[in-house]
Amino acid sequence: MANPSLLILAGDGIGPEVMEQVKRVIGWFGEKRDLAFDVSEDLVGGAAYDAHGTPLHDDTMARALEVDAVLLGAVGGPKYDDLDFSVKPERGLLRLRKEMDLFSNLRPAQCFDALADFSSLKKDVVAGLDIMIVRELTSGVYFGEPRGIFEEGNERVGINTQRYTEGEIDRVARSAFELARRRSGKVCSMEKANVMESGILWREVVQKVRDTDYPDIELSHMYADNGAMQLVRAPKQFDVILTDNLFGDILSDCAAMLTGSLGMLPSASLGKPTEKGPPRALYEPVHGSAPDIAGQGKANPIACILSFAMALRYSFDQGDEAARLEAAIETVLAEGARTADLMGAEGGTPISTAEMGDAILGA
Ligand code: ATP
Ligand code: MG
Repeated sequence: MANPSLLILAGDGIGPEVMEQVKRVIGWFGEKRDLAFDVSEDLVGGAAYDAHGTPLHDDTMARALEVDAVLLGAVGGPKYDDLDFSVKPERGLLRLRKEMDLFSNLRPAQCFDALADFSSLKKDVVAGLDIMIVRELTSGVYFGEPRGIFEEGNERVGINTQRYTEGEIDRVARSAFELARRRSGKVCSMEKANVMESGILWREVVQKVRDTDYPDIELSHMYADNGAMQLVRAPKQFDVILTDNLFGDILSDCAAMLTGSLGMLPSASLGKPTEKGPPRALYEPVHGSAPDIAGQGKANPIACILSFAMALRYSFDQGDEAARLEAAIETVLAEGARTADLMGAEGGTPISTAEMGDAILGA
């Protein structure tokens, strides 16, 4: 059988620096674990604009639709700030998301014990935390019509419309339930069915999908405002949280701060299951291109390496190997390996991007 295929789009700023370490990790799996990938590389964002005058070449787009998974670094930077909107680096990423139809955004909030002091919460509330937020990414109030600023009598009115079809709710619910089957089997769905029609439909459809096709899943429902409160009060009560685009935007940022540094947070965006099996998928660190530290060898590669771990688990059915990689990261953090972003009040000397890669490979 052919090796699983992976398209690497390192992008701009610290993207190529952190991706360099991921490539070493991928090489390690091929060499030591007999898990070889068919890796291709291409340009995205400012790097693609510099080469082709477009932030995503059509050939790159076509390749992204063919491969089993795409791994992206970061796009953008001050050099491209004055470009026309149509060729801005971010447009490359938006095109990927749109044409791959990535409607399900997975953002884990995982707290490594060694970094529990970084959390905005008390250590015992977050130590060992491991939750996953599934956010609907392509519909809801960000896209619903009518929208705009209109004249109404002698004043203006700003309008957005929260709109969800049954099909849109159904497919993202399935993606959350599939995910939960690889975890604890527990999903909490969040909306505001008490005040929103879309929330009533959301709750109804999610429950129906569960009852029809996922009876093994333990499903609960919560109003999103209570969910926000519970997330900062006792986050370990959750495993998978399923929610819409707007609530997901807010709740996932909130969950991110439970864990500390931006340099630690991976993400995945999934589409419909393909004929081959696993869904179309794009994996990327939550952080951006970090122009302030680009080119200095200081960036933390862990968010990008953890994004590859997510790819192992969700695109390649290699949960054990993903756990192996995560355990190595846990080990080096416990042993005190710290890039500059992870330096606490106690001080010390930070290690470089490549040294963090060395440490993880060693572990
Ligand atoms: P975007 O608009 O793409 O979200 P941004 O400017 O909001 O980008 P980042 O590029 O993620 O955000 O950078 C925010 C801050 O976090 C910067 O000070 C950056 O140096 C720091 N940072 C981000 N990622 C990392 C990383 N992997 N390692 C160390 N520091 C990081
Ligand atoms: Mg940002």
